Amino acid sequence: MTETSPGEEAEQEPELITCEGHGQQPPAFVCQHLAESQPDEASIGFHWNCEGGDLIANCDDCEAHAGDDGFLSDEFFEETFVVICRACFIEMAAVNGVTGDAVARAEAAASAEATP
Ligand SMILES: [Zn+2]
Ligand SMILES: [Zn+2]
Repeated sequence: MTETSPGEEAEQEPELITCEGHGQQPPAFVCQHLAESQPDEASIGFHWNCEGGDLIANCDDCEAHAGDDGFLSDEFFEETFVVICRACFIEMAAVNGVTGDAVARAEAAASAEATP
């Protein structure tokens, strides 16, 4: 059981995860195929976005599971995706030709959208 301490506003503080390589980092989500892929292997595709401020990426195979609206179902997401750290995500993106700059821009755009 966890208790939220009284008097403290639940300020949307991003929960940090601890990565072996990068220490405390915000979380990002990738499909398990990407998580298991190695940088020196042939690319399995890297489809990413920053919907709602969360960095998410999946491979070609998973992309084929997207519905007509272009989104994956929650069920599929829960079964298939794993949490990695943001820095790992950016390294993975770089291997697939997406610059850290592009990721940062998408994050900035998402947080601009979140602020009314
Ligand atoms: Zn996948
Ligand atoms: Zn990491």
